[in-house]
Amino acid sequence: MARYTGPVCRICRREGLKLYLKGDRCYTDKCSIGRRNYAPGQHGQNNKKLTNYGIQLREKQKVRKYYGVLEGQFAEAFKVADKMSGKTGDNLLKLMELRFDNVIYRLGFASSRPEARQLVVHGHFTVNGKKADIPSMTLSVGDVIKVKEKSQSSDKFKALVENHKKTAPQWLQVEPENFTGRIIAEPAKEDIEIPIEEHLIVELYSK
Ligand code: SF4
Repeated sequence: MARYTGPVCRICRREGLKLYLKGDRCYTDKCSIGRRNYAPGQHGQNNKKLTNYGIQLREKQKVRKYYGVLEGQFAEAFKVADKMSGKTGDNLLKLMELRFDNVIYRLGFASSRPEARQLVVHGHFTVNGKKADIPSMTLSVGDVIKVKEKSQSSDKFKALVENHKKTAPQWLQVEPENFTGRIIAEPAKEDIEIPIEEHLIVELYSK
């Protein structure tokens, strides 16, 4: 399935909560969720009761869109999570948080996940000193992420260091002045910005 390229605020309105897809605008009163908190479209304001399946499906879509993951990639991640030891739902969230593009966003090297994805694809980062440009790559505890030397002098990254204000979650360590970030622990569910009921996704895929 192709990547969605339409208006992103519609995605948040469909899910009924902020998914932080537009960078700085999401933290201002221009956010559409504050102004029009109902689903988009002609029937968006109808309060249709969802079936159990509908609730599970919406939860999966919410998480998938929050992390910007395609349907097939998400189903694959679920299979991997299912084979890991521990709870499948927890493992799935861990895998999502450890995606390279998510880590870049969480370190504050991009203002949104879509921007992080683009910066990764354009080859602005290294992982453990090696070129890395695959947004879906799963990182591990101990990995060191750095803005490439050539990119450090660009206006974009210079501004990033000067204006770096994002507080990284506890599982990450960031040194903006050195253009560097580190994964120092496994991500915890409590650090995720939105409420997620991962058991609904497990139930959906277990049918
Ligand atoms: Fe748009 Fe961001 Fe608000 Fe979502 S959180 S509706 S992307 S401004």
